[in-house]
Amino acid sequence: MSEDPRPGSRLAALRRLGPYVRPLRWYLIGSGLAVLGSMACGLTMPLVVKAILDGPVAHRDTGGLGWMIGFIVVLGIAEAGLIWLRRRLVSEPSTRIEANLRADLYHHLQSLPVAFHDQWQSGQLLSRAVSDLSTLRRFIGFAAIFMVVNALTIVMGIGVLFALDPWLGLITLLCAAPLIVISTRYELRFSVLSRRSQDQAGDLATTVEESVLGIRVLKAFGRGPDIARRFGQQARELRTTELAKYKVIAGLIGVIIFLPELGIGLQLLVGTQGIAQGTMSIGTLVAGITVATYLRWPTDSIGWLLAETNQAATACERYWEVRDSPITVTDPADPVPLPADGDGELRLDGVRFAYPGAAGEVLSGVDLVVRPGETVALVGPTGSGKTTLTALVPRLADVTGGRVLVDGVDVRDLRLGDLRTAVATAFEEPVLFSASVRENVALGSPGVTDADVRVALRIAQAEEFVDRLPWGLDTRIGEEGLSLSGGQRQRLALARAVVGRPRVLVLDDPLSALDVHTEAEVERALREVLRGVTALVVAHRSSTVRLADRVALLDGGRITAVGTHSDLLAGNADYRALLSTLDDERERVGSA
Ligand code: ADP
Repeated sequence: MSEDPRPGSRLAALRRLGPYVRPLRWYLIGSGLAVLGSMACGLTMPLVVKAILDGPVAHRDTGGLGWMIGFIVVLGIAEAGLIWLRRRLVSEPSTRIEANLRADLYHHLQSLPVAFHDQWQSGQLLSRAVSDLSTLRRFIGFAAIFMVVNALTIVMGIGVLFALDPWLGLITLLCAAPLIVISTRYELRFSVLSRRSQDQAGDLATTVEESVLGIRVLKAFGRGPDIARRFGQQARELRTTELAKYKVIAGLIGVIIFLPELGIGLQLLVGTQGIAQGTMSIGTLVAGITVATYLRWPTDSIGWLLAETNQAATACERYWEVRDSPITVTDPADPVPLPADGDGELRLDGVRFAYPGAAGEVLSGVDLVVRPGETVALVGPTGSGKTTLTALVPRLADVTGGRVLVDGVDVRDLRLGDLRTAVATAFEEPVLFSASVRENVALGSPGVTDADVRVALRIAQAEEFVDRLPWGLDTRIGEEGLSLSGGQRQRLALARAVVGRPRVLVLDDPLSALDVHTEAEVERALREVLRGVTALVVAHRSSTVRLADRVALLDGGRITAVGTHSDLLAGNADYRALLSTLDDERERVGSA
């Protein structure tokens, strides 16, 4: 996310839009030609005016005037028609390119490993998906076309001026040339500020998003003023950058207003003398000034168009930064199908894992077998890697050594779709979306019927409360399920895990974040969910441990003991110590 104003790398970012632009190029070329045609009409008008002034007006003879005025009307209609055509032609490609870029970004974000999302702030991603892409749409639909057309119009206009009178052409050229040099210098300064402001806007969006999502925690802990201060600080930084941008633009505008006016003044001076000496006609001077005036917008806008191009290049770089992040968890080249008769054995075979960039390994050789239909509880001190281990089974991240096998097949040899049908997960914090109960439950299993959803809800002890919701399965639950109680959300997450009838369930303790009363309901649900399915359950509660057939103790990156709860309790001092801390914690939560 560095500020790199080098034009080379920035243009390369824009050039990479080629595959998106190419299929729609004819719209853009057509639109460019339409605007060029409209500009040509505009430039022809002063020539007709000159013909009228030097002909009918100078000779006091109105013969032929009708034709000339008729021609002006035709030019006016053609100009208006071409401007209409440009707008019609350009809307399709600019909106379609924006939509395609956004769809591909979204798809990429969905495919990126969890590690990517750990590292990137969501506000940064949001601002890239929304405001940066709107900047690109404006660029493709407007700035890119006008950069070319305005440059051509300036060349055509100066050509017309030279044809009218070399002095008039020279004056306009001498005023336009420094304008382009100066505006390019301003543009470079502007690009640095523009990049900074886009990054700062992303940081600000992150703060807003975090404070909206975390509003309960912020209020409960009285952290509102702190976050407001952080917001204020970031908003001030953004304002400072925006002010600096305005200053640069103001300087640029001063130059681009002054120079053309100076040119018109000089044209008047030279022209009046020419007329006095009889070397120039009144028609030529009027046409010259009209053409020079007509060229003002194309010349004025060059600086602004360069700024737009810069902003678009910045937006484009920011876009590719995300798109270039590698998708490390992918489908294998030669996928292996799961054995049809497998009944869901989960085997961890010397599993090692280190977080990217971290110094040491979190897991350093985990061996564990969860037999078909069996529930194994995974316990271990905080930070021992339990959550990390559960992420390796559905390939939210890949092992850095060893293997994870489902029914004897390495999970990396399975198609991701097959793997995620075979393995279902639920996390400590249930994540629900603002959609209907049905959509939330069926999330990972497209194609399930209402009957399947009902069975899943029944297993997860959620059918009764869902039926009591105002529209049953169709009830939309609020963002993050905030309108439901913690236990209800957790039971919906469990229903989601079982609805696709997975072979293996991987759960991060669904009971851990609940109060004592709700825990009993969810515990009942969990008992049903675990019946007859292979399950690895991270246990933060002794009540979860008691639901398991066997318990595995994770410590120092390895499984140090496996056995039934009572065996371990009797024969393993570490286990006894750990379990007592779980229960202490529970009592603290219960009495809080
Ligand atoms: P547990 O679930 O047993 O409490 P975790 O699997 O959450 O443990 O974490 C294991 C270790 O990995 C901890 O030391 C933690 O700091 C580290 N860790 C967890 N997530 C990340 C991450 N995204 N990047 C780097 N280290 C991480």
